[in-house]
Amino acid sequence: MASRRVLVRAVLTALPIFALSVLKDKVCLLVVKGGLGILNLHRFSAALRLRWLWLVWQQPRQLWMNFLAPCDQGDRELSASATSVQVDNKLASTWLGSATLCREFPNFFKHTRRKSRTVETASANDQWIRDLHHGNTANIVNEFLQLWRKIQRAGIVLSLEEDKISWVAEGGSMYSASTAYNLQTQEASPSGIKSAVWKARAPGSVKIFAWLLHHDRLWCNDRLQQHGWPNGYFCTLCIRNQESSTHLLWDCPFSSSIWHTMSTRVGYAALKEKQEMHHGSLRHFQRLIALTPAGFKKGLKSMFLMIVWEIWKERNACIFGNKLSQTEHVLPAIRGSLELWRLPGARCLELPFGKM
Ligand SMILES: [Zn+2]
Repeated sequence: MASRRVLVRAVLTALPIFALSVLKDKVCLLVVKGGLGILNLHRFSAALRLRWLWLVWQQPRQLWMNFLAPCDQGDRELSASATSVQVDNKLASTWLGSATLCREFPNFFKHTRRKSRTVETASANDQWIRDLHHGNTANIVNEFLQLWRKIQRAGIVLSLEEDKISWVAEGGSMYSASTAYNLQTQEASPSGIKSAVWKARAPGSVKIFAWLLHHDRLWCNDRLQQHGWPNGYFCTLCIRNQESSTHLLWDCPFSSSIWHTMSTRVGYAALKEKQEMHHGSLRHFQRLIALTPAGFKKGLKSMFLMIVWEIWKERNACIFGNKLSQTEHVLPAIRGSLELWRLPGARCLELPFGKM
């Protein structure tokens, strides 16, 4: 019974993680890349399978080597990009440069008859040239010359020593599941969200809200309309334009007056800068930080999150509580939050920061 309970518990725990990881690529990005760092199970399983390929090199005489490694071509290419082979005997590995030859010279590789030759047999008497299919070779001349020069420059000397492999991903020397996993998330460049959101001094709920804002994932009326869901179309704070996150937080006269009022406080001068049309909220925020004097940058980060959060709360109160929007509600709320956030010792928010 105990083992069945463990199994059921493990499966039930894995279900929401699986749903999150397969449904949303964004949340599976690393935190430094702008995601939430939730494990992507497809990438993680690939990272674990790479261990098989690593052990094939490291422990070639183990009995379990007689079983086929459960890896596909994608895993082998990933493994090749994460490793470097010093003296190799296999054409399909990274023994000449940073990528496998079949990947670097795909047309040439297609044209050759014996794809499983070892380096030793292929290099003897230029056998690799004789292996080429005859016929139309004009389209591979360029790749042929490049490869020929590469081999000449490398000056390969084969010896009886064992081939050596090293793990080069992220500067490591040994396989690790974390580097193999991170290797698959390199496509997105650092987003700046880590510094703008997660490093800022603010409550967790405000940080999650800011993360959604920077990814333009707030459920404003424009987005509800795109999905064909019920919406009120207009911005509830001004009843003039269609509500979008850009309008609601920057262009709306209601929000503009709040930003303007707040910019008169100590350390907030940059807040009066208008957001440019082509800017996302993150780029706008980063511009405000750049315009802020060094001593006030940390405080400004917290205040920025606090102001957008209070505007959002006012918008929700108008929609769901049938209130009328009034800046007189929002400004005292910001002031109250500022005092509350100071209580736990947020030094970046201490006076004179924020003083009128
Ligand atoms: Zn508006």
